[in-house]
Amino acid sequence: MRIGILGDIHANLEALEAVVAAMRREGVERWVQVGDIVGYGPEPSACIDVVRDLGCITCVGNHDAAVLDRLDTTYFNNFARAAIQWTQQRLQPRDREFLGNLELVVRQPPFTVVHGTLHLPEQFGYVISPVEALDSFEFQDTQLCFVGHSHVPAIYLRRDAAPEDIHVVPHSEAEISYRGFDRVLMNVGSVGQPRDEDPRAAYGLVDTELEIAAIRRVEYDIAGVQRKIRAAGLPEVLANRLALGV
Ligand code: ZN
Repeated sequence: MRIGILGDIHANLEALEAVVAAMRREGVERWVQVGDIVGYGPEPSACIDVVRDLGCITCVGNHDAAVLDRLDTTYFNNFARAAIQWTQQRLQPRDREFLGNLELVVRQPPFTVVHGTLHLPEQFGYVISPVEALDSFEFQDTQLCFVGHSHVPAIYLRRDAAPEDIHVVPHSEAEISYRGFDRVLMNVGSVGQPRDEDPRAAYGLVDTELEIAAIRRVEYDIAGVQRKIRAAGLPEVLANRLALGV
């Protein structure tokens, strides 16, 4: 089975369409989305439509929860909060219904899907080092787990016989064999707002027969989405950062 994993789309339709086209060329059979469909970008409803139409197995992200007023945005930066308020005014009832039905953790063997971490999913912590991966692994009872949230891709691997010995593949573009590993935790990076200084859209790909996990990158029309962000009156920084991948 070929699993394609989208994450942190952030209402960037140009990036989403480029990634979906690449995933179709790769023969993806099962579609997964790790949260934050909305927030920051100019096309929340259109991106929700794509995720819905693909039949993605989907968990809720912190921005998705925030637009429904289910998460306190005190700890969001000003630009993120401004984008949440902008998004709230534009969501359609069916968008709210879709987001409102999403769970924090979705377990679908051989994988589990969560936005932040499995040990504290409601706190939306980041997996950015082996320290958090170790904690999250304690609650991972499927071989594979897909996460997002940091917008920085990485793959963590562990053998149950040596649970403290965590292997890390920190690259922004990578393809590895996970044969022989009992637990794989994959941060798939961000479709719509990469922050690893590579502005190309990121997605995850897993082939469960070949036991290969990959982070792929795709070019997309950054200038096009920047124009839409500015035309929408969203904060300028949200357009500028896309070209830098930060
Ligand atoms: Zn995000």
